[in-house]
Amino acid sequence: MHRCSTCGNEYPSRYHFVTDSLCNQCFEKVGEEEKKPILERAESLSKEGASERFINAHKLVCPICGHDQFWKRQTLLNTPGMTFFGIEWANKQADNYVCNSCGHILWFMKD
Ligand SMILES: [Zn+2]
Ligand SMILES: [Zn+2]
Repeated sequence: MHRCSTCGNEYPSRYHFVTDSLCNQCFEKVGEEEKKPILERAESLSKEGASERFINAHKLVCPICGHDQFWKRQTLLNTPGMTFFGIEWANKQADNYVCNSCGHILWFMKD
């Protein structure tokens, strides 16, 4: 179990967390100014995990620069401000793999 250090709630997986110790719900409650450093921390945490990634046994290679080290980030598409192209993405989740060399982002949609 993972425990949020702010609200004390426990969650079964890291999916419910923005950083290692802050849950998505607590993150939604903080002000816009506070969100920035939290997101930067979340980003640096993920960057430490840059490595080769595989999708259905296919190795990811950046289509822009050919690099093969990616770090992973998960994006909830129903988050306020994350409505793309005017489409409502109800409870959709996407995996983002970000090229550790050029920053190109690959998107993989989940059900
Ligand atoms: Zn919390
Ligand atoms: Zn790249």
